[in-house]
Formats: sequence, structure tokens, C-alpha cells
Amino acid sequence: MSNQSAELLKNPVQPQTGEATHQKPASPSCRFCNAPLTVNLVDLGMSPLCESYLAADQVNTMEPFYPLHVYVCGKCYLAQLEEYVQREHIFSEYAYFSSYSDSWLNHAKKYTELMTKRFALGAKSLVVELASNDGYLLQYFVQKQIPVLGVEPAANVAKVAVDKGVPTLVEFFGVDLARKLVATGQQPDLLLGNNVLAQVPDLNDFVGGMKILLKPGGVITMEFPHLLRLMDENQFDTIYHEHFSYFSLITTEKIFAAHGLTLFDVEELASHGGSLRIYARHSDDHTKPVSSSVTELLQREHDAGLDRIERYAEFEESVKETKRKLLEFLIHAKREGKKVVGYGAPGKGNTLLNYCGIRTDFLDFTVDRNPYKHGRFLPGTHIPIFPPEHLRAARPDYVFILPWNLKNEIMEQLSFIREWGGKFIVPIPSVKVYE
Ligand SMILES: [Zn+2]
Repeated sequence: MSNQSAELLKNPVQPQTGEATHQKPASPSCRFCNAPLTVNLVDLGMSPLCESYLAADQVNTMEPFYPLHVYVCGKCYLAQLEEYVQREHIFSEYAYFSSYSDSWLNHAKKYTELMTKRFALGAKSLVVELASNDGYLLQYFVQKQIPVLGVEPAANVAKVAVDKGVPTLVEFFGVDLARKLVATGQQPDLLLGNNVLAQVPDLNDFVGGMKILLKPGGVITMEFPHLLRLMDENQFDTIYHEHFSYFSLITTEKIFAAHGLTLFDVEELASHGGSLRIYARHSDDHTKPVSSSVTELLQREHDAGLDRIERYAEFEESVKETKRKLLEFLIHAKREGKKVVGYGAPGKGNTLLNYCGIRTDFLDFTVDRNPYKHGRFLPGTHIPIFPPEHLRAARPDYVFILPWNLKNEIMEQLSFIREWGGKFIVPIPSVKVYE
């Protein structure tokens, strides 16, 4: 025993008189408006980090689980998770490479065409992307000789971008980085971020940074999953620790306005189960009038109850019912002796499988196109991940599509399973079989 421990045993530290020794954790507060969070959206229990795929030598070791408990702010209606895990832990080595999805690449390419035309981008413009991943999108601007800069905190992913000719800073974005870039004259005409706003723990620092960085007259576009669709279609599996916030247009408009930015257009996209693409500008830039699409969508969200706290409180029961129906289906299939395997190993699959308690008792294995995941195991459920060729050899009765947002693309790629009578299962919004 060390001298220090012996000393402690002789003189144990006593709590000061009157100080509570078993305090409840302080109640969480809204990451935008700071109001206390008291209303549940949904509590999905304890779950591992959904991108922490395990190597074979890790499956018998202890695995950290964190709460997956979403609140909604009663004042600004921002749906949010507490930051249970530090962002450095989640994002410094990231397994998600955007370029492994054909439809996402296609989406990015179309976006670059659209923006280049609409905002007359050229060789003198600058496009900055926040969370630029492996350069999946900026590469198309590079092809058009439009100068770009990526900002990507995951070094392993950023390296892939740099190798393909997309200049990329390995940094987290916020006010500090924005000031540094402005000081070196790097202000973008187009500043974009796809599926990053949800992943920002300090929302005000991030949006405040965008306000500082954006060139006068410049345009911000951001894409993120739409809370209206998440709630209407039971997409609870898009909730995971990496996604700290879930946005309606009503709430997004408040957040941007608080930082001197005005939303002047919005589009509804099919990506990720239903996303919004918002267009923002400096509030004092009157060259871009606010389109009727903004006011119309705000009205639709109002009609759907997204500015009433009672609507949010109803969501949890529909999530529970989705779980019950999915388990009913799987139990029935297994009792009939069917072979069920997974397709894909996306983050959303891990939320669904852990919440529903679906392990190798229901899914023998899953397959994925990303070689990083081959030979690894899904976090929590420990379902093994193989290359897609495994499907042919296994001849499953059912292929359970985990990235259901890509179901059409996947069913087309895997149409060969029909040779042996194989069928597809899509779990969300509620379990459905495709023959
Ligand atoms: Zn709030």
C-alpha cells in the first residue's frame, strides 16, 4: 500500500457538514436557449456508440454503454440528447466514409451542379464544407475548377480527401476557427454542411462561427434530417449519440435568427428518410428575398403540432409499438425455421438492434460494402459483419435492410436473392416485407 493510501485510511476525507453526498445530477438544459429540459421525447435505454465497430479481439472485453435519452425543449422545441460522450471520443477516428454509397455520391454531384448555376460560382469563388468527410462532395467542385476547402475533424477520413486532391483542415469548426480563416482571407461564397448540424455539441458556437465566416452576400446551405419526418414515420433509429440535436424548421429558424442569419429558402429532400436543405444568408443581405417555401413549411409544422409540447409527448408510445411489431415478426419467422440475415452496418442499425434486443438469435450476420467493417462486429449486439458476397452462399429467407433509407438501391443490387425465394424486410416506419 502506498503512503498516500495509508494516509487516506487514517484520515478519510469527510464531506463537509450540510453538504449532500448523493446529489442527483443537475437537470440538463437546452443547448440552444438554455431552458431546463423536462419533457421526454423518447428514452431508448442504454446503448453503445453506434460507430464503435468491434474487432475480433474486443468482443470479450467490456464495452461502454451510454443513455440514449432524447428530451425536447419546452421553450424552443429543440429535440436533443445530452452530450454523454465527448466529441473527441466520437469523431477523431470515424468509420463512416460517404463515398461508399452510390446514391449519396449522386446526390452530392447534383448539388454541385445546382449550386454552381444558381449562385454563379466560378474560379474566383470559394466553397467551404464543414464536416467534408472523404471529399465525396467537394471533389465535384474541384472538377469544375472552383476553389474549395474542407473542414473535417476525423483525421483518417480527411486523409482520404487530401489524397484525392481536396484540401482539408483536420479541425472542429466553431467561432475560433472561423476567425482564423477570416484573418487569412478565406471567406466562402458558399458555406455548406451536410448532416453535421445534428452532430454539433455547442450549437451556438457552430452557427455563430458560420455567421463570422460567411462572406458578405454569401450563402449557407445545410442538410439535416427533418424532425417532422422522424416523428411522423417513427424513425427513432436515426437517434444516436453522435446526433445531439433533431431539428424542425421552426426551431432552426430561431437558432439562425439568433445569430444574425435568415433562412431564405428550404427544400425537402428524400435523403436519410426525409431531410431539409436550408438556405441562409446574412440577415442584412436583402438581395435574396425569403421564398414562400419557408413560410409554407413553417405553417405545415405548426399544423402538425411541432410548436405544441403535447405532440412531442405522444412520440414514445409509437416507438414502443414499432419495437413490439418488429419483434413479433422476427419471433414468428424464427419459429418457422427461417434464416434471417442483415444488409448494411449503418449507425442507425445499431440503435434499432440494441433498442429491440436483436442479436445473433435473430440475425445470423450482416454484410456491408465498407471494407473497414469486414471481420468486425456490431457494437452491443456483436453481430458479425461480412463482405456482401456472403449473402449468396448463405441463401437467407429474409434480408433485413438496416439502412432502410437506401432500400430501393439495395433491393435492386440484391435482386438475385429472389432466385431462391429470398425476401426483404424493411423495419421502419413499421415492419414490411418486400417479395
Ligand atoms: Zn431551447
